[in-house]
Amino acid sequence: MTHPAGEELAAYWLGELDEAAADALEEHVFACEPCAQALGRTAQVIAGVRALLPPVISSARLAQLRAAVPALKQADVAPGGSATIDFSVGDALFVLVLEADLSGAERVDFSIEAPAGPTLFECADAPFDARAGTVHVVCQPHLVTAGYPEVVRMRLRAVKDGVARDVAEYEIAHVLPT
Ligand SMILES: [Zn+2]
Repeated sequence: MTHPAGEELAAYWLGELDEAAADALEEHVFACEPCAQALGRTAQVIAGVRALLPPVISSARLAQLRAAVPALKQADVAPGGSATIDFSVGDALFVLVLEADLSGAERVDFSIEAPAGPTLFECADAPFDARAGTVHVVCQPHLVTAGYPEVVRMRLRAVKDGVARDVAEYEIAHVLPT
């Protein structure tokens, strides 16, 4: 076996390889120091993201995650827009890039609400990219199965000149593996 690509290491760590491919990769990695180190770095980045429930990540963190998981799926969502995250095709990580006018924002609060209103999750003082006008949310199937409705509303509030106001909301649907 040749050195596995970064994409393959990420797939292995996310449990996306079939048994034969996983066995072959393990066999190689146990005997190959550079690949063992590469797998360690991949695992570290993915574990760091997985530990956050659900994670809102900075641009720097997103760049790091993209490097570790080259096949990372991403959906850019405009203010008032909607997106469907399809976990049924075997992807274990999905990044939502929520677009909003965040110029001059001192602080951004992110929340997830059920369609009927109750707030499911709040992340006050979330990381955001003011210049790009983006907030990055990593979605994972195990978060959705933990009692989340199939469709949720995500909302951004920004503090500008000391005043908090809603800047954008998004309708996000999840399709789970069958
Ligand atoms: Zn190797």
